[in-house]
Amino acid sequence: MKKTIVITGASKGIGFAIAKKFVENNFNIALCSRGENSLESAVKTLFEINSDVVIYSEVCDVSKKEELELFSKNVLTKFNTIDVLINNAGVFFPGEVHNEEEGVLEQMIETNLYSAYRMSRAIIPNMKKNKGGYIFNIASIAGLQAYPNGGSYGISKFAMIGMGKALRQELINFNIKVCNVMPGAVFTASWEAVDLPKERFIDADDIASLVFNAYSLSDSTVVEDIIVRPQLGDI
Ligand code: NAP
Repeated sequence: MKKTIVITGASKGIGFAIAKKFVENNFNIALCSRGENSLESAVKTLFEINSDVVIYSEVCDVSKKEELELFSKNVLTKFNTIDVLINNAGVFFPGEVHNEEEGVLEQMIETNLYSAYRMSRAIIPNMKKNKGGYIFNIASIAGLQAYPNGGSYGISKFAMIGMGKALRQELINFNIKVCNVMPGAVFTASWEAVDLPKERFIDADDIASLVFNAYSLSDSTVVEDIIVRPQLGDI
């Protein structure tokens, strides 16, 4: 029987790279994003990669509690078993804690942290019922150390890593694995405006391979943390 992966924010960037990797490997998939056109185009590409899998997509703003609840409910109606959850959707607004605009922290906490918290809480009962699962939180190096202009983004990612560590301990006896993924700069739309060569960044497909390889290890092994940086160091 085919396995199923759920990815938040998978129309582009790291989420889309992970989607392609798992679809290539014959996983059914549920994905969401806010933009309808980019989501449609992502689904089209995924279908071209593998037309044998079930692809469920939904326009959903994961920072809105009701929309996320509807997405998770629809996913659980569509698929009996969720094998992998990737908490990926995230936004980065540069700024400094002490002088960034009012509301920036709230926006990033809602999108980067609460979406992962709510999505995990929605999907974990299914994983418990099916006695297994793997949750990957796409955090950031910015959740391990502070960066200039990293402001509230860093707060949201430090908190996400804390959540992942808590879940790891809570789920240890339910055969549900939890991994915090902490990449440095990955070449995605987030970096388009920066005048640096692609070679200066991590390739999003490498994040997908790391996640897939971690998932593919034997049942008795868990990868708790993935720390990955551009070869030439942080940007
Ligand atoms: P990206 O290229 O901008 O893609 C983000 C994806 O998430 C898109 O599909 C986007 O689609 C979706 N998304 C954003 N906000 C959403 C929302 N509120 N509801 C639903 N979907 C939403 O970003 P990325 O660089 O791949 O980043 C993905 C994750 O990796 C983020 O959590 C980010 O913090 C983390 N990360 C990135 C880097 C990096 O250097 N790129 C490094 C470390 C960690 P829509 O805009 O259409 O909603």
